[in-house]
Amino acid sequence: MHARGQDLVVEDLEIDEPRAGEVAVRIVATGVCHSDLNGLRGSRELRVPMVLGHEGAGVVEKIGAGVTAAKVGDHVILSAIGRCGHCAACIEGRTWMCSTWGASMFSGTLIDGTTRLRLRGAPVYHWFAQSSFAERVVVPEGSVVPVRKDVPLEKVALLACGVSTGLGAVFNAAGVRLGESVVVIGCGGVGVAAIVGASLAYANPIVAVDIADDKLDFARSLGATHAVNAAREDTVARVREITGGGPAHTFECVGNPKTLEQLVEIVPGGGSGYIVGAAPPGTRFSFPTDGFIRNKHLHGVMQGNVRASVDIPRYVDLYARGLLPLDRMVTRDYPLAEVNDALAGLEHGVGRGVLVFG
Ligand SMILES: [Zn+2]
Ligand SMILES: [Zn+2]
Repeated sequence: MHARGQDLVVEDLEIDEPRAGEVAVRIVATGVCHSDLNGLRGSRELRVPMVLGHEGAGVVEKIGAGVTAAKVGDHVILSAIGRCGHCAACIEGRTWMCSTWGASMFSGTLIDGTTRLRLRGAPVYHWFAQSSFAERVVVPEGSVVPVRKDVPLEKVALLACGVSTGLGAVFNAAGVRLGESVVVIGCGGVGVAAIVGASLAYANPIVAVDIADDKLDFARSLGATHAVNAAREDTVARVREITGGGPAHTFECVGNPKTLEQLVEIVPGGGSGYIVGAAPPGTRFSFPTDGFIRNKHLHGVMQGNVRASVDIPRYVDLYARGLLPLDRMVTRDYPLAEVNDALAGLEHGVGRGVLVFG
């Protein structure tokens, strides 16, 4: 990315060797996520030139001094949010809130404040301390999650961010229990993953809400028991009807003021709403205070509150057992040369796209 809003350019960069605590990885596949598109088209000031991409999966080629998270030859998923291991959040086990990562994600550098990429000698900046829209990356070991070698990396790459966010929202943030009612607003990559999670948790009913019929059909095929088209139906009334007064758990997976307001309206007294979608910085929404005194809860969710090194290997095992339908959730493969098409593809069609390196 040379400038926000312009197409990405594919070109040859120089990459440094991994320093102490860092890992060099040959990328096999990387998810293409809405956050990448937001980086390219959104309002956030970013340092350029920058290499986007934060859902990488690949094979470890080299490790820096002192690295214990992985060894050469390991298959790894590069978690969008890593762990430093020594901040308060990491020590308390809330690695998704790692303050070191929080400070690095959009800083343009790795966690030590420097970059490993150069273009004709000038620095090129990192995204999520990762930059996986590239054949090779150097990343801090805190983002590296080794996984079993018998699963195709192009299928499990989405566990680096999008799919884990949806699953984690259900299991970690909400702790959905058997038979509880679930509503998911927005059936893009994250929303569909939340529906799959709700299905794995034997939630019932599982109501998908979207304005696109193809996304609703896709959600049904992956476990939603009901679909509500918010463009045509009175969503709140319909959801109350299906869930017998209001759902136990409602997940907002879009990140815009309208769906956030809808979230608050849907959540009944005693129920919980989860803000999973990443709204652009500075987004505001307003809502009536009705119901909060009757124990209506609203929760912000960061990356599904996923503890990457614990949860991602568990999700990979579920995939290997045939319980997590990643094969159907990944709907398109692109070569790196078509990265701009892959980003554009986020705005239409169902499922998720992945860049696959030859
Ligand atoms: Zn930390
Ligand atoms: Zn993402």
